[in-house]
Amino acid sequence: MQRYVIVGSGVAGISAIEALRETDRSGEITLIGDEVHNYYSRPGLAYYLTGELAEEYLFPLSRNDFKNLNLRHLQARVVSIDPLEHRLRLNTGETLNYDRLLIAVGASALSLNIPGNDLAGVVKLDNLEDARQIIRLARKARRAVVVGGGITALEIVEGLLARGVRTHFLLRGETYWSNVLDQVESGIVLHKLQEEGVQVHFNTEIEKILGNRGKVAGIQTRDGQRLACDILAYAIGVRPRIQLAQASGLKTNRGILVDNQLRTNASDVFAAGDVAEVYDPFSGRSVIDSLWGPARDQGRIAGKNMAGASAHYSKPIPFNVTRLANLTTMIIGTVGKGVDHDLVGIARGDSETWRQLPEAIAAQSDFDVNRLRILVGQRTLLGAIVMGDQSLSKALHHLIINKVDISAIRDRLLQAGAPLASLITDHYLKLREADARTLH
Ligand SMILES: Cc1cc2nc3c(=O)[nH]c(=O)nc-3n(C[C@H](O)[C@H](O)[C@H](O)COP(=O)(O)OP(=O)(O)OC[C@H]3O[C@@H](n4cnc5c(N)ncnc54)[C@H](O)[C@@H]3O)c2cc1C
Repeated sequence: MQRYVIVGSGVAGISAIEALRETDRSGEITLIGDEVHNYYSRPGLAYYLTGELAEEYLFPLSRNDFKNLNLRHLQARVVSIDPLEHRLRLNTGETLNYDRLLIAVGASALSLNIPGNDLAGVVKLDNLEDARQIIRLARKARRAVVVGGGITALEIVEGLLARGVRTHFLLRGETYWSNVLDQVESGIVLHKLQEEGVQVHFNTEIEKILGNRGKVAGIQTRDGQRLACDILAYAIGVRPRIQLAQASGLKTNRGILVDNQLRTNASDVFAAGDVAEVYDPFSGRSVIDSLWGPARDQGRIAGKNMAGASAHYSKPIPFNVTRLANLTTMIIGTVGKGVDHDLVGIARGDSETWRQLPEAIAAQSDFDVNRLRILVGQRTLLGAIVMGDQSLSKALHHLIINKVDISAIRDRLLQAGAPLASLITDHYLKLREADARTLH
């Protein structure tokens, strides 16, 4: 009987177990996770913070689902791995032997290394405990300062706002999420926040956090400005948790290096999810996704391969649907380039391929607060961002994911004032009609 050990009870770890069980009903599975909570939805934390989602809805699997997976769940932290001996050690002192091991330990928020970061009231949003803490603090807090330029920072701003906390949002540059959004899109988001009462501070960096009796009392910016607050929240990027792998002699770069079967350089050791750095044939480089969908898919492939298959993972075209200042936003493929000034390292939703693709030509269309931007390559659409009205999303998703030839409409798309929406929809519908005819 095979002994499988999965480290990390996030989406990559759980998907691996689900895939494992489809093939191997009897192998012994041990899941080791260091969080007090069972598997929950990290993307759901944003909606939990705003109060739109009750905590119980964060947990995708029922007690019965877990029972059916037939696993041993240890709440512990893995402190070392010995790949040669096929053994690992927990913080409890216990050691475990494995035949196949999956490292799915995710990524953690970068810390804010400035004076005062140990004061009560300094928070991040990495996990459910963090979200609970923000909610607890928001009950009494009157003012908050949020630092960071990506999705998580915005999610914290919106959560605090929904809980009646007056919020300052500090941006290092002139725009929000500059490695993905262009100036207009950033402007739309920030304008909506300002309308809701958020005070946005541009070109502002925090120098230190001011305290009073061990608690946050305010912040001081580099240009000497002081803002009073009871909460200081930061979201300045994430970093894959590679220390365990590094110490075990596994090959790492920014993440744990894996081949397209999610195998590391050590035999019988796999890695998946936010911690894994996967080779991407599309860009010819290894990349980290930091997204829920790819973590789930990688987990599945790793799980199958741990059970003896030879399944291949191919990195999908980046795709994310999120909500920015109450605007549903679909981001797909290549939409941004350049260096992000607000985040350190990789941003969630920023797949590095967005910066590595050949020059693309942007065609844009604005109507009301909805916005569409598409990036047109030589024969295909390379990316799109759709803010607000999502009626075009399905067609764009299909055209981009399937790399559909758009030569027939390319020139018209690029003409000034082109009716983008109808050109795209017509092309999509014609394709579907043609597909339907082929099927009959
Ligand atoms: C607030 C927030 C919002 C997000 N929103 C979105 C979104 O809208 N869309 C999207 O695509 N993605 C989103 N993400 C990112 C997404 O959640 C991650 O890409 C995904 O959770 C990665 O899954 P994972 O299984 O690789 O890692 P994780 O979910 O991070 O799970 C890893 C687990 O391993 C545990 N662990 C770490 N070290 C050890 C150890 N030594 N021993 C035992 N256990 C250990 C960790 O505590 C954690 O529980 C969001 C993330 C956050 C934090």
